[in-house]
Amino acid sequence: MLYKRSSALFTEAKKYIPGGVNSPVRAFNAVGGDPIFVKQAKGAYLYDADGNKLIDYIASWGPMILGHAFQPVVNAVIRKTKLGTSFGMPTQIETEIAKLAVSMVPNVDKIRFVNSGTEACMSAVRLARGFTGKDKIIKFAGCYHGHSDSFLIQAGSGAVTFGSPNSPGVTQGTAKDTLLANYNDLESVKALIDANKNEISAIIIEPVAGNMGCIVPKKGFLEGLRKLCDDNKILLIFDEVMTGFRLAQGGAQELLSVRADIVTFGKVIGGGLPVGAFAARNEIMNHLAPIGPVYQAGTLSGNPLAMAAGLTMLQTLFEHEDIYKKLADKTAYLHIGLEKALEETDLTYTINRLGSMISVHFTDEVYDFKTSVKGNNDYFKKFFHGMLKEGIYLPPSAFESWFLNDALTYEDLDKTIEAAAKVVKTL
Ligand code: PMP
Repeated sequence: MLYKRSSALFTEAKKYIPGGVNSPVRAFNAVGGDPIFVKQAKGAYLYDADGNKLIDYIASWGPMILGHAFQPVVNAVIRKTKLGTSFGMPTQIETEIAKLAVSMVPNVDKIRFVNSGTEACMSAVRLARGFTGKDKIIKFAGCYHGHSDSFLIQAGSGAVTFGSPNSPGVTQGTAKDTLLANYNDLESVKALIDANKNEISAIIIEPVAGNMGCIVPKKGFLEGLRKLCDDNKILLIFDEVMTGFRLAQGGAQELLSVRADIVTFGKVIGGGLPVGAFAARNEIMNHLAPIGPVYQAGTLSGNPLAMAAGLTMLQTLFEHEDIYKKLADKTAYLHIGLEKALEETDLTYTINRLGSMISVHFTDEVYDFKTSVKGNNDYFKKFFHGMLKEGIYLPPSAFESWFLNDALTYEDLDKTIEAAAKVVKTL
């Protein structure tokens, strides 16, 4: 496959946009080479600027769970656009999507919409601090909660891919209020709570981590966090930006049967338009302005086009709950196929999977940040580029989960497995 046009577009983009991209992981720094410029996408396929067709395993990093350009979402956005694109005044559709979202997600009474996952997590932490009157938070090494200052402490995703898990520009004053624990390690959390008695407002976690590759919580880990939070008057924030409406209608809370106090969303909830949200029970949400003292706002929050896309997406998922089983089955099929391909080599590898999230690490046993960074990046790079040559688009970093979408067929999965079998032999 040729990528001449993409490379030319990238050269031009670099003149005007830092690094040529508006979000770092889009650049191929971690895997080498120039990023691919996409022209359009439909269903499970991307069509790039050079006319190549690729099977897509990032789904816009999660949102496109029903495939690209899903017709009902496209129609809803077109219909809404004709009525005006932003008012800065309340609209009925905001209540419709709020009502539906709250009915799908366990343990929440109210939801507020914002424009990104970053905003959702940043606002959730402010709300937790305002509600508890305490300043510190605990996050987990390798988890990513957006690029707000408090979270760029041992952050995963692009931050680790680009060597800046602790970004310059975050003041020491801010950093000191973010305490760092290890994923799947309750003792590390207990130690922080003991050393900071009555100072911790919230523990924020990706209930299934997707920003150090996919990492699944060990049995008892989330339950243990829940108990520690209850015992110490700490709020448990589930960052369900990736997992919300993806692992189940009610996200990881439903799939793993663990209750969170505040839940954040992004990605699927906006149907591919810029939407984030955070939700909690009344007692907590009523602390928000204009009824409470914790300030949070947004000119474009609840934007009608974004709400139309999100509402249509959630309605479809609500009416077709079988999608989750279909997605999990396809992901399991892919897992088995990849495993078979890798077993025939002498490579060391781990495949982690839950629901429609999966990733391949070239190391053994990955259950936290330390074990994920052990992955052999040279193998990952070769694997990524080998797959790309075969027409398969994987996340261009080992520190990202793959996301399957409902439009993928078993034929697509077979093609992917065949490609992997060929590529892993060359590593
Ligand atoms: N939380 C998680 C778990 C994420 O994966 C991301 C983005 N990948 C964010 C928060 C931030 O979302 P956004 O990029 O929409 O700001």
